[in-house]
Amino acid sequence: MIYDISPPLSPRLAVWPGDTPLTREVLLEIGRPSASNFVSNITLSTLHATVHLGAHADAPSHYGADAPAIHERGLDYYLGPCQVVRVAAARGTRVAPDMLPQPVRAERVLIATGTFPDPEQFNTDFAALSPELVRRLHEQGVRLVGIDTPSVDLFDSKDLPSHQTFLRCDMAILEGLVLKDVPEGIYQLIALPLKLVGFDASPVRAILKK
Ligand SMILES: [Zn+2]
Repeated sequence: MIYDISPPLSPRLAVWPGDTPLTREVLLEIGRPSASNFVSNITLSTLHATVHLGAHADAPSHYGADAPAIHERGLDYYLGPCQVVRVAAARGTRVAPDMLPQPVRAERVLIATGTFPDPEQFNTDFAALSPELVRRLHEQGVRLVGIDTPSVDLFDSKDLPSHQTFLRCDMAILEGLVLKDVPEGIYQLIALPLKLVGFDASPVRAILKK
């Protein structure tokens, strides 16, 4: 059984306000005349988009000066046993440590808040993680935390305390996951970032295997 926890990547997918949405530029299309007027026998397109697109992995360089870029991160963060937990978080609040089962049962934890229900409609009142929760998970040996919202910090947060805690604890972040159809439990997570040299994030195809 495989759960695909990535939203579809299309021009309709919502990105952070001010960030670059996805566009597809078609250079060639099968059966259509190309610029040189020959009928093309291939389709060829170019992708333009933010790297914080849909389900994505933040690199430490996104929130830390001189911190590692996404190509420098170990793939073991993004591959292996993973616990999915569902929390009753109010919109616009941070998930506190006591809202999670203690202790957690895997090195990777995905937190379903249900506060960003439509990937094609950006709502700014999504829930986020408290830095205390990130620290508590770190103490329990957790190396990656994922969330079903665009950020582990609140929309209007300026000092990004949860991102900063991930940086200090050398943990990995997944954002933009779609967890609404996934029952709580233990899975194998596969969510590898692309080897984008120097980049501050990468889209991932995130799946959970039972
Ligand atoms: Zn982030």
